[in-house]
Amino acid sequence: MFETSVIEISKSALQTNLKFLKQRTGPHVKFCSVVKGNAYGHGLSEFVNLSMECGVGYFAVYAADEAYRIVQSIKTPPEIYIMGMVENDALEWAIQEGIEFCVFDRQRLEAAASFAKRIGKKAKIHLEVETGMNRTGLDEKEIALVGERIAKENQFFEVRGVCTHFSGAESMANNFRVSQQISRFYKSMLTVGRSGLKPVYQHAACSAGVMNYPETMGNMVRVGIMQYGFWPNDETFIRYNGDKERNNRILKRLITWKSRIMSMKQVKKGEFIGYGTSFLAHRDMKVATVPIGYSHGYSRNLSNTGKVLVRGSEASVTGIVNMNAITIDITGIDGVEKGDEVVLIGTQKNKTVSVVSFSEMSHQLNYEMLTRLPKDIPRLTVT
Ligand SMILES: *Cc1c(COP(=O)(O)O)cnc(C)c1O
Repeated sequence: MFETSVIEISKSALQTNLKFLKQRTGPHVKFCSVVKGNAYGHGLSEFVNLSMECGVGYFAVYAADEAYRIVQSIKTPPEIYIMGMVENDALEWAIQEGIEFCVFDRQRLEAAASFAKRIGKKAKIHLEVETGMNRTGLDEKEIALVGERIAKENQFFEVRGVCTHFSGAESMANNFRVSQQISRFYKSMLTVGRSGLKPVYQHAACSAGVMNYPETMGNMVRVGIMQYGFWPNDETFIRYNGDKERNNRILKRLITWKSRIMSMKQVKKGEFIGYGTSFLAHRDMKVATVPIGYSHGYSRNLSNTGKVLVRGSEASVTGIVNMNAITIDITGIDGVEKGDEVVLIGTQKNKTVSVVSFSEMSHQLNYEMLTRLPKDIPRLTVT
């Protein structure tokens, strides 16, 4: 209630992106929608609901708390897969709920086995194999042991997948390392097969994998950033098709972040605006205050450089971004009134402030900037 800004997410934009991705993967590749980090800032339950309306039925989170939030907030929960952290208490809950999770060490496998036995339900697992990321994953020797262990009590496990994660598929600079990962992944799949396991899905590709290494799509992809309308990086965008104009129309951003003008005033030439001396009025100016600041994810790096939209025109941030407010220059924008809509990210009339330019201005990656949008800004879905 009474929030100072809202984030809108667009259903038609999501549909556009999903259609492009489906064309790219083909109809027989399972689509796993990655919604960690509060669905990349879009709002976890709002985004999952919207995606379900668009026909998506399978979601990946990083940790059990995110899976829990989906189950709590959605009437008929979709299929959920936890890629990373599940503590033992959560493991029991996950098995009970039929939630899938990764296994990358034998302790988790043993814990899963004992909970599955106790509850009388199968643990739905994905075997994560080490291929060169050196974060989590089973090495060749462990795969064999895990295979034997599962074979011993097959009735407690459902092996949903075998998977790995690339260490930077978005950049050619990592091509040697990623190619090595790909061949190690194929080798691991043979080892898994030899131990008698038959995982339903083989999956490695994230967004950049789908675009730059389509041969790694297997029968499932785990896509995050592109479904929200962003390319993993500029290089991937250009590699797909050098025509930037055309590429810009392929994916559509879902997000619009809006606030309102709270107050306006005249400032005389020669006066400073805001804290300290960082902005000196070089002429008589008209400024407006907008009630969002760095506590809302509007980076302090945007001090004196950020741009927002008012009445279809660009207005610059004047002075330092405060904890809860910014001041913007509206000199020369006609007819601005208290209560007018201010777009911080998104389109107004025919002008756009993209997250890309926003995060370039504030030296953050798209991914980071999006996920820093606080959870308590309301998310509204629009058509
Ligand atoms: C985040 C993540 C993805 C999705 O990555 P995008 O670049 O956003 O498509 C896929 N797999 C794993 C294991 C991840 O952590």
